[in-house]
Amino acid sequence: MINCFRRYVETYLSHNVCMTHSPPLIIGAGPVGMAAASFLSRYDIIPRIVDKRAEPSKFSKALAINPRTLELFEASGITDKLLALGRKIHGATIHRNGRIVAEVDFEELEHRFPFMLALSQSATERVLREDLAERGIEIERQIELVESPNLAEGKAELVHVETQANESVTAPWILATDGAHSVARKSVHVPFPGDTYDRAWILDDIPLATDFAPDRAHIKLQDDGFLFLMPVYTGEEKPGEPTVWRVIGNYPEPLAQLTESNPIGESQWNSSFHIAHRLVESMNVGKVYFAGDAAHLHSPVGARGMNLGIEDVWVFAELAKRDELSLYHQQRWPVDNAIVQRIRTITGFVKAESFIKRTLRNLLAPRMLHWKSVRETMLKTVSGLDHPVPLLNTKPEEPPAEEGRRSRRRERNQ
Ligand SMILES: Cc1cc2nc3c(=O)[nH]c(=O)nc-3n(C[C@H](O)[C@H](O)[C@H](O)COP(=O)(O)OP(=O)(O)OC[C@H]3O[C@@H](n4cnc5c(N)ncnc54)[C@H](O)[C@@H]3O)c2cc1C
Repeated sequence: MINCFRRYVETYLSHNVCMTHSPPLIIGAGPVGMAAASFLSRYDIIPRIVDKRAEPSKFSKALAINPRTLELFEASGITDKLLALGRKIHGATIHRNGRIVAEVDFEELEHRFPFMLALSQSATERVLREDLAERGIEIERQIELVESPNLAEGKAELVHVETQANESVTAPWILATDGAHSVARKSVHVPFPGDTYDRAWILDDIPLATDFAPDRAHIKLQDDGFLFLMPVYTGEEKPGEPTVWRVIGNYPEPLAQLTESNPIGESQWNSSFHIAHRLVESMNVGKVYFAGDAAHLHSPVGARGMNLGIEDVWVFAELAKRDELSLYHQQRWPVDNAIVQRIRTITGFVKAESFIKRTLRNLLAPRMLHWKSVRETMLKTVSGLDHPVPLLNTKPEEPPAEEGRRSRRRERNQ
């Protein structure tokens, strides 16, 4: 309550106009919600951002930042901070029966960031938190959105987790970045169609002794499934420490399948998860807009989850700046839909759970990856460069004059 009152007074004083509404509200301070707050603040749109957790997540989850995301963060100075922490992944190597059957290299992309940046999601989130702190944006923790019948009208019901105090907020718009199990999505009853695989995938982050090159991702096509390996970097590695690798497979025990690599330490994180491919039927319902996992889910094949969500909110911020949020669904849904569908197809090909599919995959994949067009499709999908972002690469705007800034604030707050 005290925080709420303080923010109201600060916002009132800084805007120097009569407030009739609270600021815009972002639900969820995962990577996508934080990126949204950062992008918006560059345009003087200062949102309130809340998260139900007391602490940020420590899990490594998304391991790679793609060239498109590096482009989008460049103007905010975040890219330089990420580059200083992460390591470059130059390509992917496909193995079968103990030998290399195909390789793809990001240099073929001819982009100014011709690599994937390996950095654990917890480190990426740390950079985003520091960026928000520098911008004077505080993440309000232990504040949970609960089912809110009037959310589409901008009316959110928040509960302060520790005290169980309720707070009703009316915001000009709400950005729902509250993840896969989004309460915002349920509150406005927007359908989230798609499918979920029955068979769990298992992941382990574990130090390995291996001859696999640490500047590449590795895919092993096995007789009865697949294994994916990539180094996990946090920017806090000490010299001489063994490299931690992410091992993912569609087996009960992927580590048991590692014939050429040996675990040399404790597993740092293991988890099993069910892959889903889903997309909201509409990217907004009234004043509630969806981004990140709240809007779409797909397999980690393609490394797009977090990256695609960051692109959603980059576009969202550009539209908010132009007062054109009504175009958000039209701009994002077709892009997100194409990507979710393509990743579903690629994942089906890689996991190949029937004998016939596996035989086809093992025969075709190495040959197909020698075709330039197939390599290009794969590289562009992973790098996020498989479609243009319409508002990107337009001439950067001059910073608005003080009077222009005030009048925009006045308009927003009316
Ligand atoms: C094993 C694994 C591997 C992955 N690998 C990759 C990869 O290589 N590349 C990639 O791009 N992506 C990858 N992903 C996906 C990536 O982790 C997600 O796409 C990303 O975390 C989505 O970010 P988000 O901000 O949308 O949601 P989340 O990270 O889920 O953040 C949502 C936030 O909202 C908060 N919240 C939830 N409900 C409420 C509520 N009711 N009220 C208030 N706050 C709430 C949560 O506490 C959380 O902080 C992987 C995921 C997993 C699990």
